[in-house]
Amino acid sequence: MEEYLQSALEIVKAQAGSRPMTEDEILSMIKSVAGGIAGLVGGQALPVGEDAALPAQDPKKAIKEASIVCLECGKSFKVITKKHLASHGLTAEEYRAKYGYKKTQA
Ligand SMILES: [Zn+2]
Repeated sequence: MEEYLQSALEIVKAQAGSRPMTEDEILSMIKSVAGGIAGLVGGQALPVGEDAALPAQDPKKAIKEASIVCLECGKSFKVITKKHLASHGLTAEEYRAKYGYKKTQA
């Protein structure tokens, strides 16, 4: 059994012991309590700082001394070829315009 469902059952059992409840009340309470706990658990389970794992999306940072990061797919290249940009449906001009590179930027 899921841990949150177990917790929900404990809560509802305690509640049912303190006042008379119909079966429907108990069932709907289990559902709402379990749903509430599941929501909390789900929220906490989200990895923190996931954004940091994404490829560099800053055009300035993308250009390193010996390599350039394709801002479309996050892969590193010595040069980004027109052929590669074409695989993203972009021309060199469109790519520069999209990411704000100067026209003179190779
Ligand atoms: Zn790419």
